[in-house]
Amino acid sequence: MLIDNHNRTINYLRLAVTDRCNLRCNYCMPSEGIRFAKKEQLLTTEELCKVSELMVAEGIDKIRITGGEPFVRKDLMQLLRFLAGLEGLKDISITTNATLIGPHIEELKELGVTNVNVSLDAIDRENFKRITRRDQYDLVFHNLHQLIREGFNVRVNCIVLDGQNTDEIIPMLQLAKEFPVSVRFLEEMPFNGGSKSFDHIRWDHRKILETILAAYPDYEKLQSPATSTSVNYKIAGHKGTFGIIPSFSRTFCGSCNRLRITAKGDVITCLYGKPKANIRDLIRGEDSTEAVSRAVRQAIGNRAKTGFEAQENFDTVFENSMTSIGG
Ligand code: SAM
Ligand code: SF4
Repeated sequence: MLIDNHNRTINYLRLAVTDRCNLRCNYCMPSEGIRFAKKEQLLTTEELCKVSELMVAEGIDKIRITGGEPFVRKDLMQLLRFLAGLEGLKDISITTNATLIGPHIEELKELGVTNVNVSLDAIDRENFKRITRRDQYDLVFHNLHQLIREGFNVRVNCIVLDGQNTDEIIPMLQLAKEFPVSVRFLEEMPFNGGSKSFDHIRWDHRKILETILAAYPDYEKLQSPATSTSVNYKIAGHKGTFGIIPSFSRTFCGSCNRLRITAKGDVITCLYGKPKANIRDLIRGEDSTEAVSRAVRQAIGNRAKTGFEAQENFDTVFENSMTSIGG
């Protein structure tokens, strides 16, 4: 079992499989000039499988595949097939922009990979195009509807962006009204590859909730697992639910059960902190099992208590793009 220096059990790995993406969401990365990792810097599929197996042996029982856009990676299904057969791994989830998942939906279902988070920051076509800087609206909605129809456990993640999509908060809830999905609103974080910087936000979790409750006063707060980052609610008459994730305010650090490994093998124990180790060379070297386990255990044994504490020791944090961290 992996237990950190603040007695928190770490059982959830967020594994980024690429830093590349076919969209250019303006809160995530700049439109151009991004220095993507070279192929040889990325973990190969074999290495991703090996790392996952090792982490599951150490006590990880949930893996979320993220990126960049995971489906940009042509060999992604190979990794998912491997994960599906991994004893001890109870939950395989994917975070995706839903542009490229279409052809894989059937196989994902066969593999039992049914937890899919779809990032969607606009219901309005033009706004979607402006925020993502790409014209993929129809494809995303087609795939989103197919995932819902096929019975996937879909969560729609919407980043609330001051001046960009705050008037979409209420229209976005239409999805939860019509379908059994969870629509989650996230505070914007300052990870965007240097496109803009900020040290406070106007649209924090309180303001998001106030906005929703002004339109829908008849709601119920739901019980959520202790490790959940979202506070969840159900509006009377809606098939689905909604949630709010205070990712900037960071009210959930006390129960954080997450470890991040990036596509380049960086080990990140807090989103707001510097990588604590890199396992790429270790996994390629001799005694890799022992070396990777030791590096991960050491990183977990030296974890910041909160995102604020991690940030104090990391003044360049805001130049990072979420595409290299994985969200
Ligand atoms: N490409 C996939 C997607 O968009 O779902 C997976 C990777 S993306 C980096 C993972 C998550 O990070 C997405 O839900 C995205 O909205 C979120 N994200 C990216 N930049 C962010 C930022 N500056 N603040 C908050 N969330 C952000
Ligand atoms: Fe790509 Fe996801 Fe970042 Fe948008 S949020 S640019 S889809 S990695």
